[in-house]
Amino acid sequence: MMTETERSALVERLHAVQNRIAQAARAAGRDPADIHLVAATKMNDAERVRTAIQAGLTACGENRVQELLQKYEQGAYEGADLQFIGTLQANKVKYLIGKVSMIQSVSSLKLAQCIDKEAKKHAVCQDILLEINIGREAAKSGFFVEDLGTALEALSSLHSIRIRGLMAIPPIPTGMDKSSRYFAEMHQLFVDISAKKYDNVSMDYLSMGMTADFEEAIACGANIVRIGTAIFGKRPYPMNADPTREIQ
Ligand SMILES: *Cc1c(COP(=O)(O)O)cnc(C)c1O
Repeated sequence: MMTETERSALVERLHAVQNRIAQAARAAGRDPADIHLVAATKMNDAERVRTAIQAGLTACGENRVQELLQKYEQGAYEGADLQFIGTLQANKVKYLIGKVSMIQSVSSLKLAQCIDKEAKKHAVCQDILLEINIGREAAKSGFFVEDLGTALEALSSLHSIRIRGLMAIPPIPTGMDKSSRYFAEMHQLFVDISAKKYDNVSMDYLSMGMTADFEEAIACGANIVRIGTAIFGKRPYPMNADPTREIQ
């Protein structure tokens, strides 16, 4: 059980994040209503997630299928939109269909084809984002930019998925290598693909920016930010350098 103090601290952090998002949007000449906050809820229990939803959180992003199913059973996400943002194995796709409005982390053609197949079985159309390995990191999954055109052509003939945009987790910044460079590259890619008008592809969402860099991401055109730590506090287990890989 959370204490009253923990509850109010969580609510305060959520509202502070919402305010920072709105400010970053206005600073970039954008409408705050166009920026969607998806809270990265991994390792935070159903009570914490529900507390955030009661305080105005409208969308949750979960990383692991097992954890999602468990919290789903507990009613953690009721009243909010649920998305998947983590590494996904093809054999687990079936558990997500019908539960998540969007799978953000589609990192290969094979995975997209598998989602299409499972969605077809359930007679639904699954919204997805394509994850781009914008920093070309060996440890990360995602499409390389040069493979994207071929992938989009292959995917445009599938009818049980709909490609709604792009997602990226840029490298941890080191010295001169700033996140904004990768965010700008992502935005350019987003604009270029929009202009090409592939069938079944609508570039509605550009998902990038986390606790450390969401304001920069908004300045560069993100309209979905995925934020965990700034809302829920530090996750209760050892952190390695990359918060998105820590529980693989
Ligand atoms: C954990 C996670 C985030 C949020 O990370 P924070 O630094 O805690 O805000 C965003 N995206 C993905 C894919 C994640 O796994």
